[in-house]
Amino acid sequence: AKAAGKNSYLIYDSEMDAAGLDRLTLETDLRRAMERDELVLYYQPQVNTRTGAVEGAEALMRWMHPEQGLIPPFRFIPLAEEMGLIGEMGDWAIREACMQVQRFREQGLVLPRVAVNVSALQFTPSFVRKVKDILEETAVDPSVLQLELTEGVVMGDTHASVNALSELREMGVSLSIDDFGTGYSSLSYLSRFPLTELKIDRSFVIAADKSEEDASLVIAIIAMARGLGLDVVAEGVETSEQYHFISEHGGTVIQGYLFSAPVPVDEFADLLRPWHFV
Ligand code: C2E
Ligand code: CA
Ligand code: CA
Ligand code: CA
Repeated sequence: AKAAGKNSYLIYDSEMDAAGLDRLTLETDLRRAMERDELVLYYQPQVNTRTGAVEGAEALMRWMHPEQGLIPPFRFIPLAEEMGLIGEMGDWAIREACMQVQRFREQGLVLPRVAVNVSALQFTPSFVRKVKDILEETAVDPSVLQLELTEGVVMGDTHASVNALSELREMGVSLSIDDFGTGYSSLSYLSRFPLTELKIDRSFVIAADKSEEDASLVIAIIAMARGLGLDVVAEGVETSEQYHFISEHGGTVIQGYLFSAPVPVDEFADLLRPWHFV
């Protein structure tokens, strides 16, 4: 289409067609992705800055498309949400992450905690039951499982959310607020919901390098989390400057390209060997 020349109308038109076709193909293929076993989880380590140990991992979904290759989540998660497939896919991710914890164990490797993302559309009245079933089925210690929720997930029906989250906490599951600081909600939910962790969004981590004001913000978030008895993970740490800034201000767990991008399970297994990051 780009070679079509000077007629911009034509170019525009044919690119629209290509995008529309691409989307249609993806939709058709996504419906079959689960049964065809095309979804996979990549794992990104969360490293303790004091000990260098891998404290946990975030499981991140990828789609191994038979023709298009590896498709990143921004291209298919929103589609899955629109198509009503995210519930099934998200539950699969929780089960797969739990099964992987057990596979690691069989290899003599300990993954102390695995974090799985939960979509707002997946967080339905039957969600808690499903998580319970998965934990029983896989015989994973519930304290190993962490669910990452964005503010949008819990803000829908706050009363129902508090109940569901409390049940999950009672089971022993950890609850993290993802992308903290990027939502629109008031901070009051932090004390109302039974959370265990706050994830400082990458945008703050990046900004902390650049200005004193942004640095103050990150320091304040860490202090606030401390005060509320929450763990803090800084995500998207790419440079050693960012690493030092976070750890000097009391942030003890870091996730980011500085240590590792999300990697396939075999590669991740190597990172789990003792003292990898010391
Ligand atoms: P997220 O939950 O905020 O995940 C963190 C994203 O930041 C990941 O992108 C990760 O690869 C990326 N990241 C980590 N460290 C760095 C870094 O140092 N620099 C940069 N530039 N990026 C970094 P990814 O894997 O492409 O996932 C994007 C989003 O897709 C996730 O954002 C999450 O919202 C969604 N997602 C992924 N897997 C799932 C899933 O299983 N279920 C649901 N509902 N959403 C998922
Ligand atoms: Ca996340
Ligand atoms: Ca995040
Ligand atoms: Ca994000």
